Amino acid sequence: MDHLILISGFPRGGTSFLRDCLASHSKITQIPVEIVYKDLDSFTIKLKENISIISKENKNLTDKFIVNKAPANLRNLDILSENFKDAKFLVILRDPKDVFTSHKETIRPWLAGKNKDVKFVINKLEKYYEGLLKYSQKEINKNVYVLRYEDLHQNFSQTLKKIFEFCGIKTSDDEIQLINKENLMNFKLNEQYATSEDGKRKGVIGEWAIKCNQDEKKYFEENKFIKYFNNNYCYSNLELNYPNIIEAMYNSNKVNFLSENDLINYNLDKKKINVSLQHDIDFLNNDECYKSVIGCSEFENKYDISAIYNFLPLDDRRYSPSSKKKITDLIFQIKQSNKNSSVGLHMNCCEKFCLSENGKLIDNPDILNLEPKILDYAQKIIDEYEGHKINFLTSTAHGFGYKKKLPNNRDFKPISKILEKNKIISFDNILRPNLIKNSKIYFSLTDTGGFLKIGKLENKFLPNDPRFYECLKENTLIRFLTHPGNYFYDKPYRVKMQIR
Ligand SMILES: [Zn+2]
Repeated sequence: MDHLILISGFPRGGTSFLRDCLASHSKITQIPVEIVYKDLDSFTIKLKENISIISKENKNLTDKFIVNKAPANLRNLDILSENFKDAKFLVILRDPKDVFTSHKETIRPWLAGKNKDVKFVINKLEKYYEGLLKYSQKEINKNVYVLRYEDLHQNFSQTLKKIFEFCGIKTSDDEIQLINKENLMNFKLNEQYATSEDGKRKGVIGEWAIKCNQDEKKYFEENKFIKYFNNNYCYSNLELNYPNIIEAMYNSNKVNFLSENDLINYNLDKKKINVSLQHDIDFLNNDECYKSVIGCSEFENKYDISAIYNFLPLDDRRYSPSSKKKITDLIFQIKQSNKNSSVGLHMNCCEKFCLSENGKLIDNPDILNLEPKILDYAQKIIDEYEGHKINFLTSTAHGFGYKKKLPNNRDFKPISKILEKNKIISFDNILRPNLIKNSKIYFSLTDTGGFLKIGKLENKFLPNDPRFYECLKENTLIRFLTHPGNYFYDKPYRVKMQIR
């Protein structure tokens, strides 16, 4: 049994996902049924039976690895690893809070009843985990590899590479790329069906903060197993939301918050992690939006930190048409509530002329014909704000249109000329590229539709944990972009699968 890979872990903890990923490798084939350990004899017999079944279908099985997953085998990892010394054991762990939430939210019949009870589920996971502890105490074999679901989620290729290395399977970057494509497609599809709650939910990190009630959260707070897991596997009971992320940055003592002035002068602290907080105000249509934006600014004021609030044109279709005064009042309120904050222009002058009647972007806009209208409107936007005594120093581009087709607010060159003429500097085209050049590492934190996207990074922690920043190199630049008009600024985020 030297070509055997046995996966175990928590139920609803990513074992199927890991098995499918491995089975897409050309050198690995899977036993599609779960072979669960009850006693050594029956386990060995069942294993042999199934191997002989797939060898009939597979002529070249001799040089192939065989993978099987059964979460429950974690309970007996010590016995299995001792008796199958030549096999490789993969243990995939996941934040118990998210595992419970997945139990709670799924409609699968075998996870009804007790499996919706937090105490029952966490105790079950603890019993599973005892198998890993027993194995570690004996430490007879080195044939067990432990990974976290979250590592596969955020750092797919690197994590998979390490697994193949451990199993002694030769693999190329191209092959990993192929596995990536094959298995992450599901997550991409889910993104398209954003209306299906199940699709949105699938496999995300941090869902517990949204789906668990106060009693369940209190249970997490007091439970020793969860505390142990947090300490040993880098999890946290803190919700992933904007205030907690800012507090973690602040408390890490490693972060330098950049003001608009710092950006314009490329004023970076090379010994620190430089963070530019930016808020695109993409939606202002009811009182909640206003409360959220001002709440965000007041929160930042408590920490005496800078942020830039980027506003769309006053007549943008995302802002209520009758409230230009309300919008300009909000801008003055932001500046008043926090002296360190500034307001930028979130330029959106193309969309208006490239939309069809049903609100979709038209396929082949006549750029030559549209150019004068777009530029005229761009100047009108700036003039109208100026009429309200609001002048901008910087600008960001709202969206880049369908597949970045021209004309879009970032890449349509004539817009840059209008901005230049009005002494407004484009963040996307001028500031960011230069700031990146002056920094060692750059990545972004971006919220979209309640999800937080974390730029390419190898970090065990989430950004609401001060340890996240302790792991970063000095002279790292982070752009943290949120949309406090779209939903309340302190709402918890979920983390999406990293797809590249
Ligand atoms: Zn926007």
